[in-house]
This record gives sequence, C-alpha cells and structure tokens, in this order.
Amino acid sequence: MIVAREIPGKEGTIMPYRWPDDTVFTRLDFNVEDGWCLTCGCKLTVCDHRHRRLFTLNGPVHVVCKLAHCPQRVCPAHTQTLSPAAETALAMPWWVLGWDVVCWLGHRRFARHWSVGQLRTELADTYAIVLSDDAIERYIRRYQQMLAARQQDPQRLVAAYADVDAVILAIDGLQPEKGHETLYVVRELVKKRVWFAEALLSSATAEVQRLLAQARSWAAGLDKRVRLWLSDKQEAFVRGIAVEFPGVPHRYCANHFLRDVAKPVLEADSRAKVQMRRKVRGLRTIEREVLAAPQPSAQPERPEGQSEATPSEVLRADEAPQDVVLDYCAAVRGILNDDQGGPLHPPGLRMAEALEEVQASLQRNLEAKKGGQRTSGSHG
Ligand SMILES: [Zn+2]
Repeated sequence: MIVAREIPGKEGTIMPYRWPDDTVFTRLDFNVEDGWCLTCGCKLTVCDHRHRRLFTLNGPVHVVCKLAHCPQRVCPAHTQTLSPAAETALAMPWWVLGWDVVCWLGHRRFARHWSVGQLRTELADTYAIVLSDDAIERYIRRYQQMLAARQQDPQRLVAAYADVDAVILAIDGLQPEKGHETLYVVRELVKKRVWFAEALLSSATAEVQRLLAQARSWAAGLDKRVRLWLSDKQEAFVRGIAVEFPGVPHRYCANHFLRDVAKPVLEADSRAKVQMRRKVRGLRTIEREVLAAPQPSAQPERPEGQSEATPSEVLRADEAPQDVVLDYCAAVRGILNDDQGGPLHPPGLRMAEALEEVQASLQRNLEAKKGGQRTSGSHG
C-alpha cells in the first residue's frame, strides 16, 4: 500500500508528495522527441533532468525527463529549454496523478455520481492509491477545467457543428443555493451542448449583455446562423438579445411557461384539497367506536332471502366486519395524506378521484346489503 503524504506548503512544486522509502517505482525515461533545433538545425544537447513521481493506475512511476536546448549561443533559440512532449501525455505539470487516474476519478464522479468518499476507498482498494478527500476534490476540479476546455475547443466545436446549418440558443440563470451568485448558462439546443457558463454577481443588463455578445462571437466563429433564442424572458435577456441578435426570434421557454401557468393551477388545487380534508373527517372516532364494539361472529350477517354470498363477501369471509371498516379508514387516511403529483396531475384532483372511488365502493356494498344489485367491485 502506497501512502503518499502531502508536504504542507509544497503544492504547486515538483514534488508535492512524500513517498514512503519502500515504494517501488517503474522508471520511465523521456527524451525531447525532435533531436534538432527548429531554428538553426543544430543538434540539441541535454541540459537538465526533471524527476517526477506519479500515481498511475498501473502503479507508481518515476519519470525522468531529459530537458534539452540548442548549444549555439548565437542561435535565438539557445535560451529556450525544451521538454519531452511525452511528459504531458502522461500527466500535466505539477500533477501527482497521471491522466488515467484523473479521468478515472472524473468519470466516476460525473457519469456515475460516486461520492468523494466512495472514490477514495475504491482508489485505495483497487489501485492502492491513498489520497485525502481534499486531494481528490482538487483533482476533480482540474478534471472539470480540462473537460470545459475540451468542450470549448474551437476546432472540436467546428467538427461537432459541421452538419448543422443554424443553431438555437438558450440562456438561463441558475441559483445553486439561496444567496449564492447566479450561474448564467448559455446552451445550444440543436447539439444539446453547454457553450459556456459564468457566475454573475448581478443580473444587470450590461453583465448579461457581455455573455450574449460572447454567444454571438461563438456563433460567428462557427459561421452559423442563430435561428432562435429561448429564455424565461426576464428583462435583461429581452433587451440584450434584441440588441445583440436583431431580427432573431426570442421565444418563451416551454418549461418556464408551463411552470408559470402551473402556479395558479396548483394554488387553486391546494385550496380544493383543504376543503376536501375539512369535509372528510372523524376517521379516528369511527375507528375508536369499531375497536370498542364487542367482537361479532366471524361469519358476516347475511340479509334475509339472500342465499348465496356476493363475491365481495366470499373474498372477505375470513375477515370480521370491523376489519373492513378499519381498512376503509386506512385507505381514506392514505388518500388524505397523499401529496404526490405535479401540475399535470394535481394532488387535489387525484384526491377527489380517489375519494369518489371510495364512495362508489361504499355505495356498492350498501346496495348489496339491501339485497339490491349484486356487484363485485368492493375494493376496501
Ligand atoms: Zn539553434
């Protein structure tokens, strides 16, 4: 097991970790790939060695980079020290984790939603890499930065949009928590990509306008027409988009539209729910009376002239009548306490429907008891 301890104050230096003496490293030697000076064509000479120790998924690695420079004092490139490119393919400067470990962490964190604690134990169990929570968090932030840089890479973006003739853009402000600065996100909806996001301290028109101008320059860089803008149409967006994208339609976002329409619907629904709860009461009294009553015979009483049991009676032949009453009470209580359902299935509407079903069920039983129509649908 490798325990590399962080040396306080050494973050950002070549060797920020202290490795145990018995750590077994695999040694990798890298040379500058091109052996000749690109300016004067002279053969490069090795001028220094850079030692790095890294965690990789294949075990700890000791990397030795042979740094080179042009030996000709008169060459303009003489003062430049060249590093092997293979080094950054293995790990970024100052990192103690190789790319493979960083990608392993980032993928599990964001694609599989593992917690930092889970990552820490799995990394130790499977790869014998022991890191602290804050080290893992730091590398996850670096992963995010790398990912954002990759997503925003102009060449990759051009390739991703090669088959698109016009883009649809959306802007929205998200508040991670109350009192936090709002994160403004500009997304492109044809390819479903987040273009960029920025935390702004205010939703002032000037601040927002800067982001919209950035979106315009991105679209121009891609050489794509903006077909449509979507937003919740707050003042700063309406004004900014009109200025930066004259003539481009700006539509209300369907999600926000639905949410705003849903608000009065849910309010009315909530009032209806309160009224229903007020009307359907006394469950406890009924239950108490039933439980206090003397136990009747197990066989339900059969009305005169009715020779065979109705299906509901057959079903409940082993149940005492008070159990049926208690079941009804439990069902009604469940209905009254059920708060599920969004604007498309308002909870009050669901409650009304469920209570109607209970009423119909009770009615069927009453009719059966009177010797009237025989029905089968007693759901208790
Ligand atoms: Zn040279």
